[in-house]
Amino acid sequence: MTPREEHEDAITAEEMTTTVVPGPTSRRPHGQKRPNAFTELMKPKQPRTPPTAPPNPPTANRHIFKSRSGLGAYIDSPASFPPSRVISHSDQFVVIHDLYPKSSVHLLLLPRDPSISSTHPLTALSTRPEFLSAIRAEVDKLKGLVASELRRRYGAFSASDKARNDALEQAMESDDPPSEAELEAQLPPGRNWVDSVMAGVHAHPSMSHLHIHIISCDRFSPCLKNRKHYNSFNTGFFVPIEDFPLDDADVRWHPGREGYLREDMKCWRCGLNFEGKFVRLKDHLEEEFEVWRRK
Ligand SMILES: [Zn+2]
Ligand SMILES: [Zn+2]
Repeated sequence: MTPREEHEDAITAEEMTTTVVPGPTSRRPHGQKRPNAFTELMKPKQPRTPPTAPPNPPTANRHIFKSRSGLGAYIDSPASFPPSRVISHSDQFVVIHDLYPKSSVHLLLLPRDPSISSTHPLTALSTRPEFLSAIRAEVDKLKGLVASELRRRYGAFSASDKARNDALEQAMESDDPPSEAELEAQLPPGRNWVDSVMAGVHAHPSMSHLHIHIISCDRFSPCLKNRKHYNSFNTGFFVPIEDFPLDDADVRWHPGREGYLREDMKCWRCGLNFEGKFVRLKDHLEEEFEVWRRK
């Protein structure tokens, strides 16, 4: 089944023409190990580049994609990008930070197989069960990664992480601090940050290469600039991985007909309806961000 071409899009014209991908950095000599961005991201207390760091300033050798194919460069040569952009890559997948994050943590999972990459996500995830299960496995790992990043950033503010943080502090102050594995076994579990992470695809993607969004629920980001941005993650336009495979009668095959992006904007947390008032929603999102991270 192929979705009808719909004339509804979550990306703005400005974004499309300025999808600038930082160009290849100097290549590492052969055999030199690339730093593992996963381990970097997991390290609890080391200063490092924030994962949502803005792209490198434009340089002479950058690539500019004036089209919807801006994700192709990551798929073709992931090793040429810095770890601040490409988090990890394997033969099958590349994981990157979204160039225009719509929440405080926002990753994209990109399958590298060209036959999948060029397929509409609703079709690929509904008709290729082996692909769907591979995606589910990757998404589980990435949700865990985003969850630990949320804990690293916001755990100190979180009431439900307090007991864990206190126990951690105590353990680290002892004369014989436990190993990481011992620590994990003895600490209280604390807040379940995975509950604050969503994974899914857009019913009408703005970029041509198949990609899966793994995004924290907060919608707290300067890149979230209009109703389309907001609604593309908070209406039926966003199809969670758990909902696949979709059956033929599912209305989300026809996102344009459903008019998701033009719907009233409702707070992701309390459901308050902001209708079309985006500025008021933005103020409210900032308040909700505080409430959410303190939970
Ligand atoms: Zn997308
Ligand atoms: Zn609210």
